[in-house]
Amino acid sequence: MKLKELHKVTEPLSSTDKMPALFLGHGSPMNAIEENQFVAGWKEVSKTIPKPSAILCVSAHWETRGTYVTAMEKPPTIHDFGGFPEKLYAVEYPAPGSPALARETKQAIAKTHVGMDAEWGLDHGAWSVIRHMYPAADVPVIEMSLDYYQTPQYHYELAKELSSLREKGVLIIGSGNMVHNLRMLAWDKLNEPEYGYDWAIEASEKMKEFILNGDHRQLIDYTTHGRAFSLAIPTPEHYLPLLYALALMGNDEKAGLFNDKAIAGSLTMTCVKIDKV
Ligand code: ZN
Repeated sequence: MKLKELHKVTEPLSSTDKMPALFLGHGSPMNAIEENQFVAGWKEVSKTIPKPSAILCVSAHWETRGTYVTAMEKPPTIHDFGGFPEKLYAVEYPAPGSPALARETKQAIAKTHVGMDAEWGLDHGAWSVIRHMYPAADVPVIEMSLDYYQTPQYHYELAKELSSLREKGVLIIGSGNMVHNLRMLAWDKLNEPEYGYDWAIEASEKMKEFILNGDHRQLIDYTTHGRAFSLAIPTPEHYLPLLYALALMGNDEKAGLFNDKAIAGSLTMTCVKIDKV
């Protein structure tokens, strides 16, 4: 085998301009089959991005001990929710997987052993948003799990190791919600276009200030900011995907916000796009 060919085998994805990175507030699984302002925002942002060679999604809905990437050729669509209409369970998102990207991700990460997963697939944190962005399901998608046992600092550092994938046309998406407290949902306000409790707005405003100022230290140390933050982030899994997107921000890049709304009292749908200035 010639050296050139060997290079192809070890690096199956070719070089591109640096892809943007995203944090997407995914909200209710029903967004998968609705047309609303948030869905419109996801569609819109996909039009501003070159078509990715593949997508790597860090979803709030895949927590593991250790770090895994989905490595199957055909990831199944996982309906990981209960009590929703039948038509939501009928949705399939048949995007191919990418064992090649799974291998490249494993190679890119020195911080920990990355397991190659053959059991998971695409949970709704991934497919409920990606199906609106790439409805033809023609962009391969892999997921990377959140190690439940690690600190926010660890996740931030781990995310930085994914940076080189952005130069191979890979769109990295963190999918969660910055403010996410399902126990405190305002059930009587579910159908209002916007409604946030005072503490949700307070936490959201501070988060956005830190994001726009590039003050990631404050966002990593989110447990030190008092009551509003502890109500906004009762468990870390929906918040940590934000740190993955922010950690990828280079010195020549900025963070922009869209879908910046609070809903149902205790959720924010705010999304972040990391892109060159
Ligand atoms: Zn969720």
